[in-house]
Amino acid sequence: MEKITKILLTENEMPRKWYNIMADMPNKPLPPLHPATGKPVGPDDLSVIFPMELIKQEVSTERYIEIPDEVLDLYRTFRPSPLFRAHNLEKALGTKSKIYYKYEGGNYSGSHKANTAIPQAYYNKMEGVRRITTETGAGQWGSAMSYACNHFGLELLVFMVRVSYEQKPGRKLMMNAYNARVVPSPSTMTVAGRKVLELDPESPGSLGIAISEAMEIAAQDPYTKYSLGSVLNHVILHQTIIGEEALIQFNKAGDYPDVVIGCFGGGSNFSGISFPFLRENLTNGRQTRLVAVEPASCPKLTMGKFTYDFGDQSGMTPLLPMYTLGHNFIPDKIHAGGLRYHGAGVLVSQLRKDGFVEAKAKMQRECFEGAMLFARTEGILPAPESSYAIAGALDEARRADLEGVSKTILFNLSGHGHFDITAYEKYFEDYLPDHEATPEEIELSLANSAVPTF
Ligand SMILES: *Cc1c(COP(=O)(O)O)cnc(C)c1O
Repeated sequence: MEKITKILLTENEMPRKWYNIMADMPNKPLPPLHPATGKPVGPDDLSVIFPMELIKQEVSTERYIEIPDEVLDLYRTFRPSPLFRAHNLEKALGTKSKIYYKYEGGNYSGSHKANTAIPQAYYNKMEGVRRITTETGAGQWGSAMSYACNHFGLELLVFMVRVSYEQKPGRKLMMNAYNARVVPSPSTMTVAGRKVLELDPESPGSLGIAISEAMEIAAQDPYTKYSLGSVLNHVILHQTIIGEEALIQFNKAGDYPDVVIGCFGGGSNFSGISFPFLRENLTNGRQTRLVAVEPASCPKLTMGKFTYDFGDQSGMTPLLPMYTLGHNFIPDKIHAGGLRYHGAGVLVSQLRKDGFVEAKAKMQRECFEGAMLFARTEGILPAPESSYAIAGALDEARRADLEGVSKTILFNLSGHGHFDITAYEKYFEDYLPDHEATPEEIELSLANSAVPTF
């Protein structure tokens, strides 16, 4: 067979539907609960902050949902994304295994976040919304949303986690270029932000705090809605375009993955690439392993507790049944800002609990080493977040070689690291500390993150 290095699809081969894993889950997730009443939340509770179409998607059990033409039009500007076979990386490793990666960094936002930013902005516009508030950690989500909102004529206000605001000024300026307003969080604009600053004026912030701030502003104005870049079911739905394309690409290549790997923040890129393969496991007799790789400093899937918890720091969201480190958990300042979130999406949490998804935690130095090897062989400088998926893929290849077998490995390269040069600078200068959350820290955080019981 001829050597294949990149497997491309034409625009016409791009999938026209998102895949909803809810249809095929053996155990459906528990319902989100209203924090005041303990009753399952209904569409009306959510309509204060989300447009109805996204609420419908959030609770839908339909297997496939049509992608609107206006969304397809923008997807077409950067999708289908390429699937690469990492020949040079394989050679450097001397592995018998085949390593493939799906590259989601080749769009305006530099990450997979554009896949959900576009439909979210679109549905809000359709329902007469004028302004959107959101949070951003590392800045990829904020950039993705900035362009999408500007395209559809919406204003955007972004609360950016302070540590990232300081580490990554380039991302802030990029959002400004796309016409968005960016505020470091915690801020003095909201009650939630002021409360945190009172206790700790030097607070580095967290995604949980930034979410509280963005929701607080959205809840005050009927023409302002809130938007989230990960965790929720509708976000994960939009990201399944990644795995759906990958399935077609593997079919073209005459191959099929034994294992699919993604880095894990709230779960959107991992779920996006892996859920279509999980469908094939559940309905078509395939046996692909799905592996989520999270930071050891924020290890919700490997060390968190499966319980009802808030999605934000100040307790404004519904209570979600998920693996969590406690909504008051403030992760160490690792450079993979997009992975510093205390909880895991509800869908992945249930699937992990039921044994359909594996998880492992890694320290950042090992991941940066993997990122360097990848950059030097494949030529793409990865986002620090994506380096966790790379490290996971290297583990799989090395283990297969020790066992004397050859595996087909797929990982999601969720973004590029062009705005993360200072993190790489720290790595070169040897200033990149490893950090691991201890069981005691996690226990303490969970104890400090009590939620109402009913
Ligand atoms: C946001 C982000 C992540 C983490 O979020 P998930 O929802 O877990 O995918 C990972 N990689 C990149 C490049 C990101 O921007």
